[in-house]
Amino acid sequence: MIIRHQPYTLELRHAFGIAAHTRTTTPATLVEIEHAGLTGYGEAAMPPYLGESQASAAAFCNRAAPLLAAVRDPFQLEEILPALDALAAGNTAAKAALDIALHDWVGKKLGAPWFRLWGLDAAKAPVTSFTIGIDTPEIVREKTREAAIYKIIKVKLGRSPESDREMIEAIRSVTAAPITVDANQGWKNRDEALRMIEWLAGRGVVFIEQPMPKEQAEDTTWLRARSPLPLIADESCQRLADVARCADSFHGINIKLMKCTGLREAHTMIRLARALGLKVMLGCMTETSCAISAAAQLSPLVDWADLDGAVLIKNDCFDGATIVDGKITLPERPGIGVVKK
Ligand code: MG
Repeated sequence: MIIRHQPYTLELRHAFGIAAHTRTTTPATLVEIEHAGLTGYGEAAMPPYLGESQASAAAFCNRAAPLLAAVRDPFQLEEILPALDALAAGNTAAKAALDIALHDWVGKKLGAPWFRLWGLDAAKAPVTSFTIGIDTPEIVREKTREAAIYKIIKVKLGRSPESDREMIEAIRSVTAAPITVDANQGWKNRDEALRMIEWLAGRGVVFIEQPMPKEQAEDTTWLRARSPLPLIADESCQRLADVARCADSFHGINIKLMKCTGLREAHTMIRLARALGLKVMLGCMTETSCAISAAAQLSPLVDWADLDGAVLIKNDCFDGATIVDGKITLPERPGIGVVKK
């Protein structure tokens, strides 16, 4: 099995602001694994604040190359993926790229998309939200108008109570669509956070993603007991081992392939979350249709999806899952369902 990898810079359509910063590009690495005449595609998307880079992804792929070269049976994902995970700590996006490429290869070899191999009904894929970053009221209104096909708007909050209220009021001046809120750990005081959630509950907000810093688990547990809206863990829930702990402080978890090392672990996290009575959301970074289509294979299993990553970029180099009238639509192509443009 041969691995190829190359850096690829994702160019955002609009500058994207979250609680801590604003950016216009996202570094990514595209991966291909080739074996027996078939190629599987994968992708690592690496927003800089998460600590990975095109250089670290290249280093990880090079480290993985001898292990992959020794693989005789690519169907043995339960052997190969834990061995890749054990090569180094962290590197979750680079690991996800290899996991996605291996799944793509296996699905192609079997001639079936992964949603079928998992026994899922593509018609149950949810609508996806469309994300609006922190911006001025004029730009927020403009982006909300552009997002008219989406049935749910996701809004980034967490800079200040004044800015948060201004963002919501700007959206509400344009649409009555349900809103989901992502505070990205921006609310540091639990009483203020509760007051904000109570205000949001009266404005058609469906849930709150990561209201407080992950270090403030006790405050989040306090908030969970009082919040009129469900709280969803994002920064607090990276991998499988985090899921059980989140059951005390949150009503649900947001799973992203780039955090959890890929499809194999994401599928297990969904099962565990369900056993613990948690809601499940499937999220993404800014990504091409490669990683988005991989995540979309799991989407019939979740309550909410935020898989707009490929729509937010202007240089998507794959065709894959599409969004039709706001709903995730899975192609019948095998593997993760993508072709290179
Ligand atoms: Mg989030």
